[in-house]
Amino acid sequence: PNLKVISTMSVGFDHLALEEIKKRGIRVGYTPDVLTDATAELTVALLLATARRLPEGVEEVKKGGWSSWKPLWLCGYGLSGSTVGVIGLGRIGMAIAQRLLPFGVKRLLYTGRTAKAHGAEVNGEFVPLDELVAESDFIVVSCSLTPETQGLCDKAFFSKMKKTAVFINSSRGAVVNQEDLYEALSRGQIAAAGLDVTTPEPLPTSHPLLTLKNCVVLPHIGSATYSTRGVMSALTAQNLLGGLQGSDMPSELSF
Ligand code: NAP
Repeated sequence: PNLKVISTMSVGFDHLALEEIKKRGIRVGYTPDVLTDATAELTVALLLATARRLPEGVEEVKKGGWSSWKPLWLCGYGLSGSTVGVIGLGRIGMAIAQRLLPFGVKRLLYTGRTAKAHGAEVNGEFVPLDELVAESDFIVVSCSLTPETQGLCDKAFFSKMKKTAVFINSSRGAVVNQEDLYEALSRGQIAAAGLDVTTPEPLPTSHPLLTLKNCVVLPHIGSATYSTRGVMSALTAQNLLGGLQGSDMPSELSF
């Protein structure tokens, strides 16, 4: 009952019961913008690691699976000439698109609730979700978790993807139905998936997804650079102090 302010060291706020928080007049601070670059960079790293099968390659070198040169050994998929679909062209989605374009991406599709003026900066085409899913060689999920996006990537979604397409999620685990993703990956319905976020977190080491070679799972490290975490910490503390002192918070969530 004494709680006056919540300061989350994250841009996502899906873990907060906003309705109740609002009812109680509690102020909320969060950390948008300062983690955008680090998270976009990690997402690109995850995409490349997944599409070019880097973890598998590293493993083969260590366990002696690297023998004479074979034309198709450890082949994957490249970005050059590809179509990339971004689900949620917000701050992070936009930063991901900007970083992917120089790899020679041919078409950049995006979807969301509304078309974005900044979409033009990345030659983005605003398309319905179904079109994005069917036409993309790489799908990157960077939307916020909302009741609308919860379970968005399910059986129907994966069944519309190309067999050769790569799926990447660095938003929130609950946007994906993991059982459906497992089915799609194990049946070869899609080529590969890279996840920085899962349900639950941490993902149990016995989880079926971890048995698949074509699934790369990272432990939610999108914003994990030393400098970004430093800036996030300072902003989180400033938000908290502002809230406690009844003054401005540098990044207050309006809801
Ligand atoms: P943001 O600027 O608010 O972007 C969120 C985007 O989600 C908006 O463009 C929004 O589009 C879109 N969206 C909302 N509902 C949608 C729907 N139904 N279909 C498609 N798109 C929808 O937030 P951000 O700073 O880019 O962060 C995005 C998310 O990334 C955060 O909420 C957080 O969950 C996650 N994140 C993860 C990490 C990590 O470590 N992996 C780090 C930071 C953030 P509209 O405006 O059209 O609704």
